[in-house]
Amino acid sequence: MSMENRVWFAELTMKEVKEAAEANKVIIIPVGSVEEHGSHLPLCTDSIQPIYVAVEAAKRTNSLVAPPLNYGVCTTTRFFSGTISISFHSLYRVILEIVEEFIRNGFKKFLILSGHAEEEQMTALKLAAHDVMCKHMKEAKERKLRIIVCSDYDFAYEFRGKYFSELDGHGGTIETSRVMAIRPELVKEGGSENFQTLPKFEITVEPAKFWPDGIRGDPTAASVEKGKFLNEHIINEIVKLIDELKK
Ligand SMILES: [Zn+2]
Repeated sequence: MSMENRVWFAELTMKEVKEAAEANKVIIIPVGSVEEHGSHLPLCTDSIQPIYVAVEAAKRTNSLVAPPLNYGVCTTTRFFSGTISISFHSLYRVILEIVEEFIRNGFKKFLILSGHAEEEQMTALKLAAHDVMCKHMKEAKERKLRIIVCSDYDFAYEFRGKYFSELDGHGGTIETSRVMAIRPELVKEGGSENFQTLPKFEITVEPAKFWPDGIRGDPTAASVEKGKFLNEHIINEIVKLIDELKK
């Protein structure tokens, strides 16, 4: 198989990596979480979505996908069974170190794509990217070094209030549909409509008191077709970002 068809960075050889760096290929780093997603979706929900769209976008743009980081920062869902969270500082540190190592290997363009869109997670990723840029001020100012940080949910949620409930969220119609389109065998029956909310400002260590099902939205309205539509839209938006990065 020619290198053009291969998207996984870690499957390249030492020689191929040098060629990829010389070609200034974009590195996509998928970041996920191990997190409860109600009684109908698996813990890896936030990992399989960004990995899927990253691979598809990489194929269409001749980019490379880094080994995913499948752990993330989960605060809201931390006290439900199955959530395995790392700290804000750990995520910040590991992403900073991973990007630095890619830079040392000659890569300059990065798209960090997080399937877990919680504020603490996104802030850790953005701060790490910002600090990497500051360490390489000359290349950053010349825009030779460029890093995009986004979530696939930045694009999926564009359809909230249009085709989906304005309140759709964690484990809801959008997320359930997307997983149904990627790994249907992992989606279980039994999810039900749930629009309970947590206190707006108060910090709680017992979220289940306010939010017993651990989801927000209506998984019963999910379908493979909706998921395919959403995933395709997200892939197209990521392809646009990568095309812009390549300039
Ligand atoms: Zn999720």
